[in-house]
Amino acid sequence: MERISVMKPWLAEAEAEAVIDVIASGWVAQGPRTAAFEAAFAAHQQVAHAVATSSCTTALHLALKVAGVQAGDDVVVPSFSFIATANAPTYLGARPVFADVEAATGNVTVDTVRAVLTAKTTAVIAVDQGGMPLDLQPLRELCDERGLALIEDAACAAGSTYRGAPAGKGADVTAWSFHPRKLLTTGEGGMLTTDNSAWAERARKLREHAMDLSAAQRHSATLAPQESYGEIGYNFRMTDLQAAMGLVQLGKLDEMVQRRRQLASRYQQAFANVPGLRCVADPEYGTSNFQSFWIHIGPEFGKDREQLLAQLAEDGISARRGIMAAHLQPAYAGHSGLLAPLPVTEQLAAATLILPLYHQLAEHEQDRVIASVLSPVLSTAAGA
Ligand SMILES: *Cc1c(COP(=O)(O)O)cnc(C)c1O
Repeated sequence: MERISVMKPWLAEAEAEAVIDVIASGWVAQGPRTAAFEAAFAAHQQVAHAVATSSCTTALHLALKVAGVQAGDDVVVPSFSFIATANAPTYLGARPVFADVEAATGNVTVDTVRAVLTAKTTAVIAVDQGGMPLDLQPLRELCDERGLALIEDAACAAGSTYRGAPAGKGADVTAWSFHPRKLLTTGEGGMLTTDNSAWAERARKLREHAMDLSAAQRHSATLAPQESYGEIGYNFRMTDLQAAMGLVQLGKLDEMVQRRRQLASRYQQAFANVPGLRCVADPEYGTSNFQSFWIHIGPEFGKDREQLLAQLAEDGISARRGIMAAHLQPAYAGHSGLLAPLPVTEQLAAATLILPLYHQLAEHEQDRVIASVLSPVLSTAAGA
């Protein structure tokens, strides 16, 4: 019986050929393919500017920097997210302040954010958790009213929609991930998108040591150019090898989303009437790409999360404990940015589980997962 993974990137010959072409061209670092990927991504997401980066984590770092976040500021973040969301403000000497999330989507809301604003808050990072679009509009209004920068961590949300448009529009700056755990992958990689031209231009310079001339400009200059460095920048560049993969992957994104939504709906139907099981589902204002298909396990289910994980493992199926809570990690032990209890975050982190979902997952494999979830409780102790 073949083991079923929780996630597999959908990569094929076309990606390999695109990378071979880049190698043959002799230009493997950030160059023309990166520029082409940025243009294609901006068009797909209906935003004015896209700046490719080495990861979503570095895109978040740049997003906070161009938004003017400084050491000593407070930045509201959900604890219920991959730890990079909380780490990004920390890199700038700012303090991540944890907001709780709502149970239905796993996302922050205008109320959970408002509850933890301080006199020092200058920005909010809102996450589309597991691809589930957040309700941006009320948060947009709050940030405008208080003069706060709204940054969207859309790491998982390529292909999700909000009020009929691609998710990730409408924040001041949005960060994306192309890690293989997400839908669209370049191995490692990220993107910063924004409609603000000045911020895009500054991000473009900062990712390349804040040099005033790009590699392409230096390459095309006839006289040896004299570059200068206006501030302290970073090396957060994407390579053209990655961008070439990204271009191919972007062309497959709509098909990927369609397939994932089909599979998600099969899970939802299979578990619809099971007491104690709740599946992640689209909110009324948008659609998810189901980057993470999570189920919440309530007491009526009869098996707790650890027992269910043990059952799935026994049946040759990889699953994951649900999304983490950063404030429960040793890295944030004793952290001063925990201003209020986070009951929903802790509840979701303790009782959710992510099931296998990826483009190539066959129906008969998914049926094995469903049967395993619904099988009677193991007689052996959990954690075996
Ligand atoms: C994956 C992820 C990140 C980090 O992305 P990298 O590209 O690996 O840096 C950040 N935020 C969220 C919500 C994520 O899921």
